[in-house]
Amino acid sequence: MKILLVEDEPRLVASLRDGLRTVGIEMDHARTGREGLALALAGSHDVMVLDIGLPDQEGFTVLRRLRAAGSDLPVIILTARTSAEDTVRGLERGADDYMPKPFSFDELVARIRLRARRDSPAPDPTVRVGRCALDPVARRLTCDDEEVPLSPRELQLAHLLMTNAGEVVTRARALEEVWGSAARDNVLDVYIRYLRTHLGADAIETVRGVGYRFHG
Ligand code: CA
Repeated sequence: MKILLVEDEPRLVASLRDGLRTVGIEMDHARTGREGLALALAGSHDVMVLDIGLPDQEGFTVLRRLRAAGSDLPVIILTARTSAEDTVRGLERGADDYMPKPFSFDELVARIRLRARRDSPAPDPTVRVGRCALDPVARRLTCDDEEVPLSPRELQLAHLLMTNAGEVVTRARALEEVWGSAARDNVLDVYIRYLRTHLGADAIETVRGVGYRFHG
């Protein structure tokens, strides 16, 4: 499990980091609301723990922007203010829970575990490079939203090249991973030609004497 802590008080951050590690919870940290929002939208966190008093904006603003961006990341707000008004305001803006400061570490951990997405969906296996997306489970490659018909071996080769996009995949590696050690060397050239007819000549660069590089 991994949480995102948005909090500007260094001592609290340090003690939570240490404490959470001992109970097997990883932590990313942002000091400002702006940074926190960016991390939350980019990241793969199970819970956000959000301070209300941040240097650049109120935690309430972060929360509102997070929800406006369509995120359903569970949020526990931390507030030094124990007023019922703040609590109501937080919950109304889409917080899932709140902790008035000071709080007990054990209670925070209990709430994190309670709020964490229990059945987080399996990560999307789709590889996206440029205008193409390859879903290895559905065995489907689309470029510019049009499906590209490929044989199983072509798909395997495309997957290998796309997961290493921008890097050179050596001929030896491609042969080994797609055909196994018994493959004849020239089979690879034939398949690369197939792929280029589907994806465009520029999609796959030949790195002479070494292998191929996918650009998409
Ligand atoms: Ca603060």
